This record gives sequence, structure tokens and C-alpha cells, in this order.
Amino acid sequence: AKTSGRGRFSFFSNEMNLLAQERLALEAALREALRKEQLHLHYQPQIDLKDGHLYGVEALARWTHPEIGNIPPIRFIPLAEECGLIGELSDWALREACRQLADWRKRGLAVPAVSVNLSATNFHNLELPQLIADTLSTHALAASDLTVEITESLLMDTNPSTMKTLGDIHAQGVRLAMDDFGTGYSSLGYLRRLPVSELKLDKSFVRDLARDEATRALTNAVIRIGDSLRLTVVAEGVEDSTQQELLKAQGYHVAQGYLFSPPLPAAELERWLREHAL
Ligand code: C2E
Ligand code: CA
Ligand code: CA
Ligand code: CA
Repeated sequence: AKTSGRGRFSFFSNEMNLLAQERLALEAALREALRKEQLHLHYQPQIDLKDGHLYGVEALARWTHPEIGNIPPIRFIPLAEECGLIGELSDWALREACRQLADWRKRGLAVPAVSVNLSATNFHNLELPQLIADTLSTHALAASDLTVEITESLLMDTNPSTMKTLGDIHAQGVRLAMDDFGTGYSSLGYLRRLPVSELKLDKSFVRDLARDEATRALTNAVIRIGDSLRLTVVAEGVEDSTQQELLKAQGYHVAQGYLFSPPLPAAELERWLREHAL
């Protein structure tokens, strides 16, 4: 029994070593990717449901590793959060998205705004509001050209800097969007405590919309909450025109999803915008 116990233990410990080694290797690779500019942003258009105009674009990070290939953000964002690289990654994403927006405008494309996703730990950094202000001014952009997407994990965060940082960013006139709205247990509490201008209905609701009456009742409640608080409400993950029509009929303001376009590299988004005369 003793030997088999030890054997089992060493088996697990080897397994854990392997995982730890893999993680360390990935961490080193991410560090290098940031240094060597192997990360990219893709942009997904957001469409105003009333008039079909472009409302804005969301910037989403992409990592193509020279050997492994594409590593999805659901893998490398949590890794960046755990190994202390998320500050650097978000600084890069903010700068790159603002540079790209300014570049589009210079070349005559009327992109109204760009949204950037930030992680809860980014708000521990008291210098974030200044970084945002500097980045906007470097590219001669207005605060209202930028939207920062945040998630409910911010509320779980007890770091005292978080609320101050959020308040400072809001005070500059940068819009805050609540991402994945409806998935957390405290979505409504969040609305009372944070200065958000935009709600993003989570795509799980959009997915079930056509076949489930209870889901339609909930999405109807969400747009009513948004309207009464004068928030822009964006529906995510819109994949077909049935979903689009249902959301439009309920009064949703903006839609985003594969029905219109997947997230695209900047040059391809540019082509898409010109083709659709947006
Ligand atoms: P998210 O912010 O909720 O982004 C929406 C996700 O839905 C994106 O996945 C997008 O590609 C995908 N999507 C768009 N349209 C559709 C659709 O019609 N149907 C479906 N099923 N999916 C659609 P992606 O790009 O893989 O990103 C996953 C998550 O990774 C994001 O979720 C966000 O939480 C995180 N993420 C991505 N880029 C960044 C970043 O630069 N910083 C931070 N902190 N997080 C990021
Ligand atoms: Ca988002
Ligand atoms: Ca989302
Ligand atoms: Ca998400």
C-alpha cells in the first residue's frame, strides 16, 4: 500500500510538473509576444439597429504563436492576469486601438468609436486614467471616442483603488460598458455602483431568444432597465436575422455578431466598411 501510494503521488507530481512547465513555457512565450509585437487586435463592427449605421467597433486581442499557431484569448488573457502581464497587455491594447482609430479617420473612414476590453486588475493601477488621457491626446482623439468594457468581476474586487480609477476614467468622459450583462449574480447591484453608459447583453441570451419565451421576457426586462437608466444597450452574438428582428422589436439599440461580421484584422474591417458603405 505504501509503495502504491508513493507511486501514485509521484505520478501526480509528474503530471503537475508537466502542467507547470507548460504554463511556464506559455508565460515566457507571452512575454516574448508582447516584446516582439506578435499580438494583434481584431475589430468587430457594432451596428445601430435603428438606421443600420456603424455605432463603433470592439477591439479583441489575437495571438499567433510562430510554432503553436493561434492561441485563443480565453487561454492567454487569464494567463496574462495570473502572471502579471495583463497591465502591459492592456496598455498595448489601449494604445494600439487608439492608434488604429486615428489612422482610419486620417484616411477618411468615419469610425465613431472603439471599445477596448480591460481586466479587473487593470483598475488597481492608479496611473491607468493618466495613460488613457495621454493616449487619447497623442492621437488627437476625444474621450468619447473610447469605450472601456468591464465585467462584473470588478465588483468582487475589494482593492480600494478600483472605484477611484473607474471614477477618474469616467470623469474624463470615457464611456464604460458593462460586458456580459446578465450572466453574473449581481448585475443589478453593479448598475447601481458603477458609472456605466452602456450595457452589453450577454450572447447566451441572444442564442436562446428565438426558442425560449422566458429568455425573451428577460431580454425585454434588460432593455427596459437600460432605457430607464438612459444607457445604450448592445446585444452581442447576433448570428441570424430572426435574432436581429426580435431584438429590434424589443427596442435594442445596437447589435454585434457574426450576422454582420466576425472580428476582422484592421485592413479587412476597412474593406468591409467600404463594401457596406458604412
Ligand atoms: P467578450 O469581450 O465577451 O467578446 C466577445 C466574444 O464573442 C469574442 O470572442 C468574439 O469573437 C465572439 N463573438 C463575436 N460575435 C459572435 C457571434 O455572433 N457568435 C458567437 N458565438 N461569438 C461571437 P474572443 O475574441 O474569442 O474573445 C473572448 C474573450 O476574451 C472576450 O469576450 C474577452 O472577455 C476576452 N478578451 C479578448 N480580447 C481581450 C483584450 O484585449 N483584453 C481583455 N482583458 N480581454 C480580452
Ligand atoms: Ca467585450
Ligand atoms: Ca461579452
Ligand atoms: Ca466575456
